[in-house]
Amino acid sequence: MVTMSRRERAGSRKPETYAVVGAGVFGAWIAYCLQAAGHKVILLDEYGPAGSRSSSGGETRIIRCAYGSDEVYTRMANRSLSLWSNLCEQTGLNLLRRIGVLWLAMPDNEYAQGSREMLRKVGVRFEDLSAAELARRYPQIESKSGAVAINEPESGALMARQAVHAVVEQFVKFGGVYRHAEVKTPHGKGRLRSLLTNHRESIAADAFVFACGPWLGKMFPDVLGKRIFPTRQEVIFFGIPAGDDSFEPPQMPVWIDFGDNRGMYGFPDIESRGFKIAFDHHGPAFDPDSEDRLVAPEKIKAAREYVAERFPALANAPVVDSRVCQYENTSNGDFVIDRHPDFENVWFAGGGSGHGFKHGPAVGEYTAARVTGLADPAVEPRFSLASKGIEQHRSVY
Ligand SMILES: Cc1cc2nc3c(=O)[nH]c(=O)nc-3n(C[C@H](O)[C@H](O)[C@H](O)COP(=O)(O)OP(=O)(O)OC[C@H]3O[C@@H](n4cnc5c(N)ncnc54)[C@H](O)[C@@H]3O)c2cc1C
Repeated sequence: MVTMSRRERAGSRKPETYAVVGAGVFGAWIAYCLQAAGHKVILLDEYGPAGSRSSSGGETRIIRCAYGSDEVYTRMANRSLSLWSNLCEQTGLNLLRRIGVLWLAMPDNEYAQGSREMLRKVGVRFEDLSAAELARRYPQIESKSGAVAINEPESGALMARQAVHAVVEQFVKFGGVYRHAEVKTPHGKGRLRSLLTNHRESIAADAFVFACGPWLGKMFPDVLGKRIFPTRQEVIFFGIPAGDDSFEPPQMPVWIDFGDNRGMYGFPDIESRGFKIAFDHHGPAFDPDSEDRLVAPEKIKAAREYVAERFPALANAPVVDSRVCQYENTSNGDFVIDRHPDFENVWFAGGGSGHGFKHGPAVGEYTAARVTGLADPAVEPRFSLASKGIEQHRSVY
């Protein structure tokens, strides 16, 4: 068990029972941390852990500590790096690929400058690459624009779907119960006694955590219906030229083109899946249950144009795979981790907003400590329900 400190475990009250709804990265880690603290925990998911419809269900997710001058997420990402690393040791699985993350930006970019200062303050190792050094080390990247880069050598890629499955397997191995079931919206006020599933099973617990990602608005339409904005996000994999190893690690790291107004980022050729390109700009509203997940031809065209500019050797590369996923945005991109206003023992944890995956372990620790009463539930105002608006003004990247 890796997440709870001895002090926290010693301070833990008598074992209680918890039900966690949703086995994406947030729910899996919350269940794991509650179990690690010595409680009885049941984890439920309607489509299975990190399923194809979930936000956590992709091949890979970036883990990086640079968040501009934002200390909260810089520290959480740094903490999560250690906990993901511990999980790899515990399971023997190569879930965290420390292949480096390269932030491309123009020399005067304020966000990049804020990142440098915060990374120094938090003690995260990074290096600055001049335009000339960038071109020397990464000739595959076209940097004529004068872009410079921040390199985080200890960050990289998480094998997302596999990682969530590993957390759930560890949770079960240590005594947690996992159930494939759809949970119905609870009604009433005060203290919730039990949940109802589609199998008409009643799940009793002392407290309940809903980590339903993009479904949080459907689960709690009155409270979160207008505060979680699921958006359609497209991901495209281009095939690399035969025999060319310059697009795989260690020659090629994860990259984020922060100077680019199309908001592009991507991954090298990991496990021979192809060169992954994604758009960080929010797409149209998206229903995670019912919509098809076929990438729009205009997105493929836009990705191709971008690749031809930045990675000229891939200008004519074929599309070898694609995915449609959804971000589950809050109004500004801050997570929502708070108590339900009508129930004293019901919590929700979500709003990963396109950057949540890496933070799964830290969110698990944070949420478990509050739900069990080991920490003050009101310590991080940015995660509160009260701070979430009903119009989108993104400020966290
Ligand atoms: C294309 C894309 C790229 C991204 N890139 C990055 C990245 O590089 N780095 C990063 O850190 N983050 C990234 N993110 C964001 C990150 O993946 C999400 O913030 C994170 O996965 C959200 O996890 P979650 O557990 O909150 O939600 P989910 O993974 O969606 O999990 C919610 C779960 O709840 C279950 N559920 C819902 N309703 C019910 C019910 N009634 N009963 C039972 N179960 C239910 C669902 O089946 C689902 O499994 C990206 C997201 C996308 C879509």
